[in-house]
Amino acid sequence: MPRHDIVIVGAGPGGYVAAIRGAQLGFDVAVVEKEAALGGTCVRVGCIPSKALLESSELYLEARGHLTEHGVNAKEVTLDLAAMQARKRRVVERNTDGVAFLFKKNHVTRYQGVGELKGGGKVRVHGADGPEELDATHIVLATGSMPVSLPGVTLDGDLIGTSTEALAYDRVPESLVVIGAGYIGLELGSVWARLGAEVTVLEYLDRILPGLDLGTANDALKLLKRQGLRFHLGARVTGARLTGKGKSRHVVVEVEGADPVPAARVLVAVGRRPATEGLGLEVAGVELDEGGRVTVDAAFATSAEGVYAIGDLTAGPMLAHRAEEDGVALMENLAGGHARVDYDLVPGVVYTDPEIATVGRSEEQLAEAGVPYRKGVFPFSANGRARALGRTDGRVKILAHRDTDRVLGVHVIGPRAGDLIAEAVAAMTFHASAEDLARTIHAHPTLAEVVKEAALAVDGRAIHM
Ligand code: NAD
Repeated sequence: MPRHDIVIVGAGPGGYVAAIRGAQLGFDVAVVEKEAALGGTCVRVGCIPSKALLESSELYLEARGHLTEHGVNAKEVTLDLAAMQARKRRVVERNTDGVAFLFKKNHVTRYQGVGELKGGGKVRVHGADGPEELDATHIVLATGSMPVSLPGVTLDGDLIGTSTEALAYDRVPESLVVIGAGYIGLELGSVWARLGAEVTVLEYLDRILPGLDLGTANDALKLLKRQGLRFHLGARVTGARLTGKGKSRHVVVEVEGADPVPAARVLVAVGRRPATEGLGLEVAGVELDEGGRVTVDAAFATSAEGVYAIGDLTAGPMLAHRAEEDGVALMENLAGGHARVDYDLVPGVVYTDPEIATVGRSEEQLAEAGVPYRKGVFPFSANGRARALGRTDGRVKILAHRDTDRVLGVHVIGPRAGDLIAEAVAAMTFHASAEDLARTIHAHPTLAEVVKEAALAVDGRAIHM
């Protein structure tokens, strides 16, 4: 029976990064992954392909509209969706191949098949050539999450699908109903709206992007509406059914207390749940919480001796970068360290146009906790670089403790917000004050100056406003 120091089940951002870090620390690491391509949901059917399509669809829109503003006249801009999808596949392949290369480089052993815990440090791999058993000192569960559906909505893998289908449509649907105004709904809704679909987003709550700072979410709603996306808030979807034949085959989405909404295609984006089925958790004695997540302590240990879990399987933000940090911290702990991941400092980014990026507390959370704060807001419209780019929508908002000035939350909606937030995360990691950010020298002219100006605005002394 093959023996390894560490056997990791799942090669997504949590599992593959853990494997590389483990190997760097001198462990003999093996990874069990059922898919032929490494990288998990994020790399194969999530973050990476969606960003490829977001970029391509944005360029299409630019070429059709905004280029003339720059004095660039592109005649007859047309869409070649097949080429766009082919490029997306190449981008994904470069990334999955990249993970395979890193495994080789770091001598990580790879087993292809479904991993199942057998208890007592054993993992069975159900591969194409039959089962094989592995023996491990430490087992790491990193199988991630899967989309959930709704009662009354049966996914048919075609007209009614999840993000996996919506990343691969071979034609632009005339109409697309998106159920759920979360990360996935807004990103993929944006892609298809830009490419010409009539997109309607049905959201159960009376707001979009639950959990995000409300003012920022409301700003995003306004901008997305301006781009042609339609929103029905307070709309609880109770069902979706296929109707019609041949070319007129379409979906009808039922909404509680409102008229049904017809659509050529439906994207169900109402959240994800931990992927725990078939893992053999009961046999191994790994306990779940009431939400079906694997319970772990601060050092990622499950209730079973020698079995650990990281990323989407466990409580905390369901984000790739958080899973990566979990993986690194766990490996360092197994090597004798005491690493922890601070889930309060995990940035969230929605890759719409403009991007939305946030870290730390929202205004609502601070108010609810009774924390006194000051707020500094600065718009991109007052920034020279943003004007030169023609990207002036949005603003940076910094929330700092009223008495200590410590930065408690930063909420950005605007161009390259996902990159700009890194500065805020670094500042908060070092417990910076708004004054620290305000005194930090920022190159001119850059978008990052908006962060500095917002920090100055906390104290009422922004220069360019
Ligand atoms: P989400 O939790 O972000 O949003 C789901 C939305 O669906 C919520 O607004 C919810 O109120 C709504 N909803 C639930 N039931 C409904 C009903 N019956 N009718 C109408 N609306 C309903 O979930 P998601 O967008 O599916 O994303 C899943 C996970 O993937 C999230 O945890 C997210 O963090 C992650 N993700 C992250 C990124 C990114 O970082 N850019 C991108 C995609 C996905």
